[in-house]
Amino acid sequence: MPMNSTPNLPATPLPSTQQEGCLICLRNLVKTYVGSEGSFTALRGIDLTVNTGEFVSIVGKSGCGKSTLINMITGIDRPTSGEITVANTAIHRLNEEQVALWRGANVGVIFQFFQLLPTLTAIENVMLPMDYSRKFSISQRPARALAILEQLGMAEHAHKMPTTLSGGQQQSIAIARSLANDPPLIVADEPTGNLDSQSAELVFHLFEQLVDQGKTIVMVTHDRELAEHTRRIVILSDGKVVTEYIPQANGKSVGEHFRKSQNGI
Ligand code: ADP
Ligand code: MG
Repeated sequence: MPMNSTPNLPATPLPSTQQEGCLICLRNLVKTYVGSEGSFTALRGIDLTVNTGEFVSIVGKSGCGKSTLINMITGIDRPTSGEITVANTAIHRLNEEQVALWRGANVGVIFQFFQLLPTLTAIENVMLPMDYSRKFSISQRPARALAILEQLGMAEHAHKMPTTLSGGQQQSIAIARSLANDPPLIVADEPTGNLDSQSAELVFHLFEQLVDQGKTIVMVTHDRELAEHTRRIVILSDGKVVTEYIPQANGKSVGEHFRKSQNGI
């Protein structure tokens, strides 16, 4: 039986979006896209809390609002109404310039198609967010980028161009890039969606390592089995959270699942 939780129903109304231990607090988040052909409400009142150190997966059918939700958490897009507090910052109140600066320092973003700059080497891609945020001095940046690549087992590829690397290696470089400014939060939208099962396993293990080191990860995935190996699953349907539960496979090795799917079992 899934364990239902009711994080959206505090006994007394919270005075603000801030709660102790809570890294991401979403309150009654609504997103309506308005276009020439009318409007569409993709998020219909989302309440969600993610605590520091959690590894949470978000699952749901195509079109249910997963990417829209992720784009709210990273500040890539704005809600129509509701509140978003991430790392003690009410990001819905920031202007575009402020939100870009805030994101550079606080959130590592990982995409399905890696989004590496093809004209830069792997290590140059990793250094790029450091150039924008200036959290680390120019002289620190190359050594820091190399240290991150080493940590992810990617140092030998530091000076290669992205197109010469496999999908799994490119995503590992993108993960290294997401760590450039040492953000507390990593947000990934279908990070294994374009990978074979072996590469997906590698990427998932990197995420597990990062969570063990204290990072918080929110990952959208189509792979329900993969989600079962995260610490909490949030199911979205039609722009609403329909259920949240702690998976039974929580904490167990993910390798077996991948070996099974490779053997077609
Ligand atoms: P998911 O990531 O779960 O597949 P999305 O968040 O991308 O879903 O999209 C949710 C819904 O919002 C879909 O019906 C999609 O067509 C719609 N949508 C997404 N982006 C836009 C946009 N920029 N303008 C209008 N509708 C959009
Ligand atoms: Mg999507």
